[in-house]
Amino acid sequence: MGARVFSLILLPTLQCNADCDYCFEDKTNDRLSLARLQVLIDKVLDHLVEKDISGLLIHWQGGEVMTLPPSWFARAYTLIGEAADQRGRGVTHGLQTNMIGYSARWDPVIREMFGNCVSTSLDYPNLYRRRRGRDAGDFNAVWLERVRLARAAGIEVGVIAVPNAATLALGAEGFYHQFVDELGIRSFQVNTPFPGGESNTAKGLMPLASDTLGRFFIELAEVWLARGYQQGVRLDPFNELLAYFSGTPRVLPCIWTDDCANHILCIDPRGNVAQCDCWVASYPDYWFGNIFECDSLSAMLAASPVRERFHQRPMALVARDCIDCDFLALCHGGCPVRAFSVHGTLFEKDPHCALYQRLFGHMASAAARLARAAACGARG
Ligand code: SF4
Ligand code: SF4
Ligand code: SF4
Repeated sequence: MGARVFSLILLPTLQCNADCDYCFEDKTNDRLSLARLQVLIDKVLDHLVEKDISGLLIHWQGGEVMTLPPSWFARAYTLIGEAADQRGRGVTHGLQTNMIGYSARWDPVIREMFGNCVSTSLDYPNLYRRRRGRDAGDFNAVWLERVRLARAAGIEVGVIAVPNAATLALGAEGFYHQFVDELGIRSFQVNTPFPGGESNTAKGLMPLASDTLGRFFIELAEVWLARGYQQGVRLDPFNELLAYFSGTPRVLPCIWTDDCANHILCIDPRGNVAQCDCWVASYPDYWFGNIFECDSLSAMLAASPVRERFHQRPMALVARDCIDCDFLALCHGGCPVRAFSVHGTLFEKDPHCALYQRLFGHMASAAARLARAAACGARG
């Protein structure tokens, strides 16, 4: 059996208890029933068998997953485990939540199903994340209270942050200080913004000016290298890029995979199948099909002209835009949805290209610097 792992972004609900300004999801009351989950997971696992893939990593996202009860997840865990055992496949689970609905009721399922880890999101300063009818300050206060409760229960909390104009004005040092020194976060990731879904005022400001955002990323990398890297703070994408340029094992974010359509798939509660959550939630013309309306997921994917366009994108960009780039083997033209949300086509390179080039060069130099320092240290 092949050793590959396939990622499924599964949205069991499109309900959310928040109303963030930059959200790309059309929030509805749709929820996946356990009966439909059984049908869905059988077809996904049959696809793995057909493609000789040994493992499935399910990223549970919403909407907001915690608008479903923890008992639903406990039953889903058993159901999926049984279906995987029947086919000799391994399944692991990851949870992405805004933490607003967290309480101790979730602890058993987080422990058993999710290895006592959750991933959540926090922006600082927060301009866009809010609960329905509340302001952004309220969101961060509630988030912090829930995260403290979770940590007290022994749960490891990883955080994803998206920089905004206020983050750039604050600067890398202030941002890092808030996350690590003030909030005690030891594992976080900074994502590049993009205006996915229907346009609005907040998305009109995205993506941020590449030179300013690039400077922020470089300065943040330097702060982390000086104060976090050897102190056990994990900050991505810098951590994984440093591993890449040091030649050690790494798991790079999907935006830099050779062809994300080979490794990732997303399914919403209505069964719509697309490349990832933004595509399924915002761009119905880019759905691959519906899992409840096909006999075989493998056949549906193979016959999808939309998915074929995703496969064509890396080679098309190499031929036209990226051929002379020193980092082609790492970046492959970047993320399709970032390109589409800005340019309206798959066949443009990622709008953060200049930032990536600058960041890759910086992390390559940092890796060389650290290797030289280690060699000097070894020689005494
Ligand atoms: S928590 Fe996520 S799904 Fe909910 S409104 Fe915010 S961005 Fe959208
Ligand atoms: S479109 Fe972008 S965010 Fe979505 S799976 Fe592909 S690389 Fe990842
Ligand atoms: S950094 Fe830019 S030029 Fe280089 S591969 Fe990525 S998108 Fe293409």
